[in-house]
Amino acid sequence: MTSQTAGRFPAATILGYPRIGRRRELKKAVEAYWAGKSSTAELQATAEGIQLATLRRLAELGLTEASAIPGTFSFYDQVLDTAVALGAVPARFGALHDAEGRLGLDAYFTLARGNAEQQPLEMTKWFDTNYHYLVPEIGPETEFSLSSERVVEEFLFAKSHGFITRPYLVGPVTFLLLSKPADGAPEDFDPLSRLEDVLPVYSELLARLRAAGAEWVQLDEPALVADLDTPALEVSDAVERAYAVLAGVPVSAEGRPNILLSAPYGGLGAQAPVVAATGVEAVALDLFKGAVPSKEDLAEFDGKTLVAGVVDGHNIWRNDLAASAAKLDVLLAAGKEHGLEVAVATSTSAFHVPHDVEEETQLDANLRSWLAFADQKVGEVVTLATYLSEPEAARAAIDEASRIIASRAQAPGVRRPEVRERTAALTAADFSRSDYSVRAATQDAELHLPPLPTTTIGSFPQTAEVRGARARLNKGAIDAAEYERLMKDEIKRVIDLQEELGFDVLVHGEPERNDMVQYFAENLDGFDVTVHGWVQSYGSRCTRPSILWGDVSRPAPITVPWAEYAQSLTEKPLKGMLTGPVTILAWSFVRDDQPLAETANQVALALRDEIADLETAGIKVIQVDEPALRELLPLRRADQPAYLDWSVKSFRLATAGAGDATQIHTHLCYSEFGVIIDAIDGLDADVTSIEAARSRMEVVNDLETHGFGRGVGPGVYDIHSPRVPSQEEIEELLKTAVAHVPSRQLWVNPDCGLKTRGYAETEASLRNLVEAAKAARGVL
Ligand code: GLN
Ligand code: ZN
Repeated sequence: MTSQTAGRFPAATILGYPRIGRRRELKKAVEAYWAGKSSTAELQATAEGIQLATLRRLAELGLTEASAIPGTFSFYDQVLDTAVALGAVPARFGALHDAEGRLGLDAYFTLARGNAEQQPLEMTKWFDTNYHYLVPEIGPETEFSLSSERVVEEFLFAKSHGFITRPYLVGPVTFLLLSKPADGAPEDFDPLSRLEDVLPVYSELLARLRAAGAEWVQLDEPALVADLDTPALEVSDAVERAYAVLAGVPVSAEGRPNILLSAPYGGLGAQAPVVAATGVEAVALDLFKGAVPSKEDLAEFDGKTLVAGVVDGHNIWRNDLAASAAKLDVLLAAGKEHGLEVAVATSTSAFHVPHDVEEETQLDANLRSWLAFADQKVGEVVTLATYLSEPEAARAAIDEASRIIASRAQAPGVRRPEVRERTAALTAADFSRSDYSVRAATQDAELHLPPLPTTTIGSFPQTAEVRGARARLNKGAIDAAEYERLMKDEIKRVIDLQEELGFDVLVHGEPERNDMVQYFAENLDGFDVTVHGWVQSYGSRCTRPSILWGDVSRPAPITVPWAEYAQSLTEKPLKGMLTGPVTILAWSFVRDDQPLAETANQVALALRDEIADLETAGIKVIQVDEPALRELLPLRRADQPAYLDWSVKSFRLATAGAGDATQIHTHLCYSEFGVIIDAIDGLDADVTSIEAARSRMEVVNDLETHGFGRGVGPGVYDIHSPRVPSQEEIEELLKTAVAHVPSRQLWVNPDCGLKTRGYAETEASLRNLVEAAKAARGVL
């Protein structure tokens, strides 16, 4: 038997921490490894260096109790980690296990990145965040066996340096709910039906972790806070069955560690009593986004530790410690009455936010004082944990937070009358264009496009030269005029290439943009940008979200000179390129002091002015990217209509000023959009491009069912992988598309922008794409 104290949950914790390294060391190390420039041993050494630095940092920040530091490492993705631990690899990859039945690092990366024969696992967004996980493929025949003990090895590594961590796994219910049926599975196959088969592997892994010395393990079950296709009752049933098995074994040296079931990204709602009835020792609730459970619900958690996620793990604003303390008071009262322990945590893993505000010395001191990155959040949970046992000792910190939050409301730039008057004066007419049929006829007459017109999504590969030029500009090594000359050279190269390949609607390639949101953030009022604020987007890819802290307006045209120059180089229509309001919000850290709808409308008006200026400059096609529309969709169905209403309106506000002859495109970065297809229709764009290659055109079924009536370009080239699709393969995809969507509506384009690709594979792929379109036109 373990002693009471060894089993006690730490008073302060976080659910996760940035894992790419303070200076993106992991990104550099895995990319060097992939490029064959470093050995497995070198990669492992970097990985351990990051782990150790994180352990030391978190301890220094106050996570000193055993099990307070969660498992924070992954070479690529936590869902993939779990799939590989369970041995759940799709049969299409052939034999990936080694002679000992293990999946090593190369097998792991093959699943993530594909190989010459096989596409990688599909990638999709993790709940309502901009993080992408890899989708496991589970079929009736998938064999599960413990195939990697990396989580045990990492625990032992930490232990060897004196740290008892709390290993992290995606929980079995979430794991299966996020999986998709493997190729060849029967039509009605549900991965969740394999629950009983994965549980023994989880149990085995828990036992290994216990044997290694783990006192607590964290099983992450965010699927419980979302309304999914699987009916809630089936999910409840799965939770009962899963945890009856996993928690059915007593906590002991031979059995298992204590289990923390974490439920980030929202409230548990009707699943709360179900989770409360399981035998797990602790439950982490998101009390930042989700409500504090009712008294009755709290009573059901008796005997457990409630880990109160009161500090937002997903955004960067300084916590309102007084408000958090008030939530803790409710739990403490219930705790006294019903015998439950209370601990404090972040609401989600903090890997959605950068490491440390202190690194951003260039930011205005006021703004900096309003922020909390991961390290500051650790400080906040530690303060609130102090509050639990010694409220007076936390008083000064709580008061200081209240004072700073109050001063933020009064700070210059936060509320500007000229911006507010404009949004207040909007009327219904500002949100709509003339009828699509009228626009379509006008645009046909203007643009003269062939059937199945070809285009790209906007960016072309960002070469070392392009990035180098920007770095030199930022360092002052070249001046703005020289930078402009270099960018214009690049634009000319990109235009010439598209002419040579035979594209119908050209783009300028976005060389001048470091990032599709940051670029606009840098050119609009109300934003600031960070220097070190990188967060993982997927695998080794990171983004540096901007900070949207004040009222937004456009001091001057942003994209117009570049688009105008690009158009001057070609007779073909040049597509202007803007990022839509919802995406600008989603991929920034957005102010939390007013409804998102108000912020979105401010951004929309700035874009509307930009569109008017593009039209004046002779640009006839304008794309407003909204890849994040799906991402911000609330996880609970009841919250979705209100979101879709304001988000669609903000897009329409941005675009509805365009004349009938101006063809408005939009681009969305995911394929599962069945649920929001009405909203996509509601955007009223003339042409919509969407991701479809990895899911092999599944999306055209949704389009057909819906009767989607405007232009649409389901992607035929998966740009997330270096693989070059053959012309035949693209023709096949087009055949599928033509079978479901009238050909006069269809466009031919890649899945997404090309900025992360190299020129060699891009050119080859685009050549195949244009040739496939031409061949497909021949058989229409
Ligand atoms: N226009 C952007 C690009 O091509 C769109 C990227 C995106 O949707 N994520 O890079
Ligand atoms: Zn995209």
